[in-house]
Amino acid sequence: MADAPRLVLATRNPGKLRELRELLRGQVPGLDVDTQVIDAAAAGAPDVVESGVTFEENALLKAEQVADSTGLLAVADDSGLAVDVLGGAPGIFSARWCGRHGDDAANLALLLAQLADIPHERRGAAFVCAAALAHPRGTVGAPGAGRTERGELRGTLLTAPRGAGGFGYDPVLVPEGLDRSCAELAPEEKNAISHRGIAFRALLPHLIDALR
Ligand code: IMP
Repeated sequence: MADAPRLVLATRNPGKLRELRELLRGQVPGLDVDTQVIDAAAAGAPDVVESGVTFEENALLKAEQVADSTGLLAVADDSGLAVDVLGGAPGIFSARWCGRHGDDAANLALLLAQLADIPHERRGAAFVCAAALAHPRGTVGAPGAGRTERGELRGTLLTAPRGAGGFGYDPVLVPEGLDRSCAELAPEEKNAISHRGIAFRALLPHLIDALR
């Protein structure tokens, strides 16, 4: 069947699916990214418990479980904010730093309160992303052939949010070399330098190989 799915992105976030499709568009002869690259919901994949303790472990866990449950090649990512003076926290706990999953405003408010006394020169931090690729168990390249790539976007944390774009901690991170927060950048500007863009672009050659 011409448009049978060939790749699942282990996310329910439509923004991430759009980004991956754009990266892959025109790269694999015969691949129709709009119909053959689908997300976890379209693939009927169950939610994955993120029980790993590193970005890489969680990304691979998600990719492997989705590959196994769908029988398709799968890609996943795990990301967060690593703050220097907090020893890399909130890290893998970024989405639930305030104690509730996905409450961006509360996560941001707690982080700013924790850093209230920290001066500008010690407010270094990075967005980090691990992107993983996994084959279904029992197929070529599996098991143990899962691969991960990492991307980082370093910057300095503001003392108050700035900008209306983006999501999560975007309003408080000013990337190195810029004078605007990530929430003040156009989406294409952020994608060009972002941790997720870097990790996915590093994974792309392996993904293209696997889809040939
Ligand atoms: P996940 O990888 O989609 O689970 O994202 C984890 C959490 O990290 C998000 O909920 C955000 O709080 C934070 N995060 C990851 N990437 C970004 C980003 O590009 N901007 C702002 N926050 C981010």
